[in-house]
Amino acid sequence: MTERVVGGTDTPLMQQYREIKARYPNTILFFRMGDFYEMFEDDARLGARELGLTLTSRNNGGATEVPLAGVPVKAATEYLRRLVAKGHRVAICEQVEDPKLAKGLVRREVVETITPGSVLTDEWLVQSRNNYLVAFGNGGIAALDVTTGELVLEVVTPEELEASLARYEALELVVPTGATHPPLARGATVTEREAWEFDPELAREDLTRTFGLASLDGLGIAAEDGPALGAAGALLRYARELKPGGLPHLARPILVRRGDVLPLDEMTRRNLELVEPLRAGAQGATLLEVLDRTLTPMGGRLLRRWMLAPLVDPTAINARLDAVEVLVRDGRGRERLREALDGVRDLERLAGRAALGRATPRELGALRDSILRLPDAAGALGGLEGRERAALLEATAERCDLLTDLGDELARALVDRPPAQLADGDAIRPGFDRQLDELKDARDGGKQYIASLQATERQRTGIASLKVGFNRVFGYYIEVTHAHRERIPADYERRQTLTGAERYVTPQLKEYEAKVLGAEERIASHEAELVDALRRRVAGAIGRVQATAALLAQLDVWASLAEVAERERYVRPEVSADVTLQLEGSRHPVVERMMPREGFIPNDVLLDAAGRIILLTGPNMAGKSTLLRQVGLCVLLAQMGAYVPCRRAAVGVVDRLFTRVGASDNLVRGQSTFMVEMSETSAILHGATARSLVLLDEIGRGTSTYDGVAIAWAVTECLHNTVGCKTIFATHYHELTQLTEELAHARNFNVAVREVGDEIVFLHRLEPGGADRSYGIHVGRLAGLPAPVVARAWEVLKLLEAGHHVAQQSAPRPPDAAQLGLFAGAPHPLLTELDRLDLDTLSPIDALNRLAAWKKRLEDT
Ligand code: ADP
Ligand code: MG
Repeated sequence: MTERVVGGTDTPLMQQYREIKARYPNTILFFRMGDFYEMFEDDARLGARELGLTLTSRNNGGATEVPLAGVPVKAATEYLRRLVAKGHRVAICEQVEDPKLAKGLVRREVVETITPGSVLTDEWLVQSRNNYLVAFGNGGIAALDVTTGELVLEVVTPEELEASLARYEALELVVPTGATHPPLARGATVTEREAWEFDPELAREDLTRTFGLASLDGLGIAAEDGPALGAAGALLRYARELKPGGLPHLARPILVRRGDVLPLDEMTRRNLELVEPLRAGAQGATLLEVLDRTLTPMGGRLLRRWMLAPLVDPTAINARLDAVEVLVRDGRGRERLREALDGVRDLERLAGRAALGRATPRELGALRDSILRLPDAAGALGGLEGRERAALLEATAERCDLLTDLGDELARALVDRPPAQLADGDAIRPGFDRQLDELKDARDGGKQYIASLQATERQRTGIASLKVGFNRVFGYYIEVTHAHRERIPADYERRQTLTGAERYVTPQLKEYEAKVLGAEERIASHEAELVDALRRRVAGAIGRVQATAALLAQLDVWASLAEVAERERYVRPEVSADVTLQLEGSRHPVVERMMPREGFIPNDVLLDAAGRIILLTGPNMAGKSTLLRQVGLCVLLAQMGAYVPCRRAAVGVVDRLFTRVGASDNLVRGQSTFMVEMSETSAILHGATARSLVLLDEIGRGTSTYDGVAIAWAVTECLHNTVGCKTIFATHYHELTQLTEELAHARNFNVAVREVGDEIVFLHRLEPGGADRSYGIHVGRLAGLPAPVVARAWEVLKLLEAGHHVAQQSAPRPPDAAQLGLFAGAPHPLLTELDRLDLDTLSPIDALNRLAAWKKRLEDT
């Protein structure tokens, strides 16, 4: 495994290193040596490459050397962050005894392993997003957020696996060795564990022990949850290895049942731009950005989770909508609630950090301040008008634990503004702990004596420039310039000679110094104990804090949804188990915000049993894609329990939502990969049910026109005849409009344009009927094709439409045609090409591209 230089024998240090390293395969070992973390051999090469460090070497006895690279301990956090961000796992190996006291080699131990899925450093985490460490094996998923202690279990079918995994947005996936798993988001790390670790029986024992239960029935875990349980077992074993301090904040598992949430696969999530924009870095492009007016980090995380996991059960959805409605109607009450929430910090992560023994005094202070806001929030909730109409609000008010005891204790113990680091001192309020106060008195007495010493000594010696100072090496001293050397009293002992002065100490000064410095050390260690006791106090109440944080997160999300509903003029959707989807005056929640108010043209959309397929035609830029996506977004919003951007909306819940965009429109992958487009389409045909909603945007355009139309035709037929789901198919192939002659439940619609002379105006209005033409030449004109080319294109089009053979028609020549030699003498190759062109199947964009290519060729000759 590890290389050795032939003939070399390791030094004791390298032996120790190798012993430890052997236990951490696939992990970079940060090996503490004094003020550095050193990496050796392969780790050194990798670390040097990833971090841009110099690769050096270290003597390993005799003539042998080992590669070495190191980072200073002081700067280690930043290097660690970079390694972990690149998907690496790093084990931190510390010196666990004082080198001065060690006999022989210092003992070293790995104290923590940091991986992408188990980051605890607050600054590396995105506040408004969970960082789930996810295990998957044998059809079970377990997801743990190490920062909050949240544990989610889910059993999935192979078809749903990808969508379910996508929902957790995991940066690290734990799988049984050698197991296959679906492709992960870019840059995610895969961690392999032994297959036996996924055993449900082991996990059952583990969880009953962890939560001190007789059986798991109380957690709602049943026999069929075995695979998820097994995944949880492997996950917890792994997480405890990473954090040897354990997981004191682990919450009871939440079970996600099949059919609870609407599966959204990766492509649908991306195409609808739910949480990330299609164009990296685009601002204000996502639904989340429009919706997120939450005020607390846990509210932000919950909103994101809800958006990625809309519900399916109309009762559950309406319960959420009831809560939002109360908050919409009582604007004042909502304002009060939001004011109270505004001061609440990240209760969940703060409590988690406290339980893990990591919270700084300042973080404990933030926890205290947050807890002290709870009565205000509860008061605002209690005062909401019409609260009784929302069972969820009632339940929240009833169950909300104000954590008064914990808040009081933190308030009594901590100063108003605790320091950022324990080492900065003075975290504990005077009067809280007698012993601490006494130690501080002793120290301060000494300090005062030293401060007054300068005056007394000046008087005694008559040296006006005498100074009392402090430095780390010599401690307190009295400094006298050389000029006054003769006046030094006999009890001064010389300690240090500078160029212009001498430094002295006196026995009395040393005595007070011992008092001050000794007290300083004891104060620090005692204060550390007190702070630790506070952390343990929080750990003891962790379940209650988590429960309250979860309730606040919900309140925050409902209030945020209500706020958006009012500001953006959304309405409450009528959500039911019906088939019908009816949106009146619907808008695209994101696109409408990019235009002046009233600039966006609302549209009515109806999909029902009689007409469940809409063939949406219209020229490029008409607004097909926008309409298609806004339907998807409205359904998704409704099913997550939010108001929707419509004048009125009736939403029959769907069990799946698929959104696919034809290859050349797909900005995500950059390239037109027709194969991918087709395999995605095929996944829909297999996965969709009669209750699904399928949104297809220009599917089939990744290939030639004939193929494209043929495939689009066959796919639509299948969705209509076999699947029977609600579908919107946007296409610029107006040939597809004929489909409605054959398919009883399909309807033609088009996004209207108006011709004014030879100009076109986009009306962005949905109208019944198919688009009759493609307007490719109009679009070419808009795109800036030179006037003679456009004029000629019109002529050619007329000839073609009249069924003439273009090349033999000597139509009036454009003035410069002869000069170009375009139509003179033998048929120009371009003319032959033009002749062969089938305008009936040519898309506007193809026409445009071809025109551009021809023009270029003409220019080149
Ligand atoms: P298509 O898919 O038909 O080519 P898009 O949906 O991409 O067209 O829309 C093109 C542009 O038209 C959008 O960027 C948007 O600015 C505008 N647009 C679309 N729908 C509307 C509408 N209903 N009201 C106002 N502008 C719209
Ligand atoms: Mg489009």
